[in-house]
Amino acid sequence: MHEIELSPITSGGLKSISDDDLCSRCLHCNYKPGELSSCSQGWPGMEDADGYVQACWNWTPRSQAK
Ligand code: SF4
Repeated sequence: MHEIELSPITSGGLKSISDDDLCSRCLHCNYKPGELSSCSQGWPGMEDADGYVQACWNWTPRSQAK
């Protein structure tokens, strides 16, 4: 067993996001399934080797948004 290695998101602007990404449930993400999405915080999260965002200190659940 080894832990998943995460690295900072390198995408400076738009990024392909799927349901598996933390971002798809984040208030800061302009989530466009099948297209390129944007993050109003400049992608501060961490992604795994496959490019899925797994952790982010700025993650804000949409359900808590007003
Ligand atoms: S703030 Fe973090 S979790 Fe939210 S969209 Fe940006 S990178 Fe993803």
